[in-house]
Amino acid sequence: MPRLRASCLAPRRKKGPPLPRLPPGARARAKLTYERLKEAYPAVTELAHKDPFQLLIATIMSAQTTDRAVNLVTPELFRRYPTAADLAAADPAVVETLIKPTGFFRAKTRSIIAASRKLVELFDGTVPNNIDDLVKLPGIGRKTANVILGVGFEVPGFAVDTHVKRLTNLLRLTSSKDPVKIERQVCSIVPEEEWTGLSLRLILHGRRICIARRPKCEECILNEFCPSSRTRPKPTRRRI
Ligand code: SF4
Repeated sequence: MPRLRASCLAPRRKKGPPLPRLPPGARARAKLTYERLKEAYPAVTELAHKDPFQLLIATIMSAQTTDRAVNLVTPELFRRYPTAADLAAADPAVVETLIKPTGFFRAKTRSIIAASRKLVELFDGTVPNNIDDLVKLPGIGRKTANVILGVGFEVPGFAVDTHVKRLTNLLRLTSSKDPVKIERQVCSIVPEEEWTGLSLRLILHGRRICIARRPKCEECILNEFCPSSRTRPKPTRRRI
């Protein structure tokens, strides 16, 4: 099987404006970050799924809610609609009832049925394994596409969700708040084989330790070199 192409918008590509300058020390902090996080977290998504189709639908439904809430409804949803063709032909009222606990259930019902119809129309019901085709599906942006590629197909990709955006800024691995620029900057200083794992682990770290309003810096394995740590620097603290 030919090797699938990595999805990151690498800065060496000729298209697109030049990247802003990286913060000083970003490369060294990025290496420490992916090394430390690798020791603490598996490279997994917490969304339960059995195949790329289930992952795609679960990822769309995970907007504005927790993975746990999505995992509560997907077993019955996928039991009733196991394929894209099944979900494409579903009665929206039934789907709305099934996924109601995830919130925004009317909009999500429209999105998952529309994505399923497009999957059938364009790709014979099969989830594509490249970013250019994935972003043609309604409800799929680069973030979701990178998750599907990384987790569903093992194609390296750096998904920038709200946690990744926040943590890459706190750790000063990027000088941008724009998800596309963050993706390009981080991919330029992290080896390709680390992209997917780093993104998934930053999400887990953001949920468990570096929580938006109350980061647990005293428990954080990145505290030693994190420029945004709220705890007092210890004598051994590394400055990068
Ligand atoms: S030290 Fe604090 S701010 Fe820095 S990554 Fe850890 S929890 Fe977040």
